[in-house]
Amino acid sequence: MKNNNIVWSALSTFATPSTLLAFTFFLIGSSLSATATAQENIEPLISAEESQFNDWLDDQEEEMLSMLETITNINTGSLNKAGVNELASIFSRELRQLGFSISTLPGDQIDMPSCPGSDYTVDVADHVLARSPGSGKKLLLMGHLDTVFPPDSPFQEFRREGDTMYGPGVSDMKGGLVVMLYALKALNEFDALDTKDLSILLNSDEEMGSLSSRKYLEEQAPQHDYGLVYESSGNERLVRQRKGLGQARFVVHGKASHAGGAHEIGRSAIKELAYKIVEIERMTDYESGVTVNVGVVSGGEARNTIAPCAEALVDLRYPEPQQGLDAVDQFEDIFGNVFSYAVDSGELSTESWTNLHRPPKIPTEESDYLLDKTISIGRLLGQNLGVGDSGGGTDGSLTQAAGLPTLDSLGSAGTGAHSNREQGRVSSLVERAKLSAVLIHRLSQE
Ligand SMILES: [Zn+2]
Repeated sequence: MKNNNIVWSALSTFATPSTLLAFTFFLIGSSLSATATAQENIEPLISAEESQFNDWLDDQEEEMLSMLETITNINTGSLNKAGVNELASIFSRELRQLGFSISTLPGDQIDMPSCPGSDYTVDVADHVLARSPGSGKKLLLMGHLDTVFPPDSPFQEFRREGDTMYGPGVSDMKGGLVVMLYALKALNEFDALDTKDLSILLNSDEEMGSLSSRKYLEEQAPQHDYGLVYESSGNERLVRQRKGLGQARFVVHGKASHAGGAHEIGRSAIKELAYKIVEIERMTDYESGVTVNVGVVSGGEARNTIAPCAEALVDLRYPEPQQGLDAVDQFEDIFGNVFSYAVDSGELSTESWTNLHRPPKIPTEESDYLLDKTISIGRLLGQNLGVGDSGGGTDGSLTQAAGLPTLDSLGSAGTGAHSNREQGRVSSLVERAKLSAVLIHRLSQE
């Protein structure tokens, strides 16, 4: 660190804020990925053919931005089937023009327990699988069409100010979809696409945990050699390791009664839910890395009615697979017990649904190879990418667990995902498309 500080103060006498920022990322990158430095020397320099892809991409920024503006302005909240289908048809058309054959993978309806009247059903739109058979290594490219913003969210529109773009999905992950498409277009422009063996899976339910598309991802994973996911490259960092994710939805049924005239015969579902929430929140343990969040609660009918029903939605994060299984057991214990009344009269019951929807993404020798190779290519292109770990899960966690070495942060750079502060760096669109064009070209020839 001391050495870094000396370099820093020497540098700060002439550096502009942006070069300082780049230098900082370089330092992060070099300290966290020691193997990447070694890899840099063996990764061949950019060839004349690869330079053609890059030169072509240098002229595509306006087109890429215009496409991103169009697709950001189409609402694709996970449950907005019409919007998701519209985006799916745009990408199907683009990929067909590049020679891919397109098939539709049916979405599903997933019923979950809910209080009477709230009828919580997840109705998932279809997913898209594009195939272009060829020779060489088989690559599976992945992205999601959906965002976390429903049609009634106030955050709906694309906006650009200088090198910053704002809007729902600009970095998570419509920017990444545009990066992927233009990397393929660059290869196609110089007859380097149709020889490659590529599959592209675009799912419509990633933001809900890929509850419907998981089976397709796990089916495709073993049929390929490498997986590339176009989630955002965040603050110019590629993600090496991720926590596992789980979710639970539970409904407490009680007994309604008049809050004044017959209080003692009621059994309050809200009161029982409150006790359960305290028990669930106690499961968070920062030391072991397990965190639990009761993110949504609702219930009750009226101020003066003992609540007959109440429900909650819980998020779980865990570093090790066994911790996920243990957490599910703890949930089941909490759901199966009555905490709020001294004597269990049998009038309180709990329905629950739990799902470990993302296993932890644990690095392997092959996934580290993919990461180091990408960072090395990035350096050859003048992109200093760092490496980090994340508490957020992606579909890359599913494919990696299914045996496919997967890198899952190849999309455009940006921050503020899942909030109305979501933004992206405009110039990263072309940069990451160049990175992917060269990466796909090299991986497929291995
Ligand atoms: Zn995402």
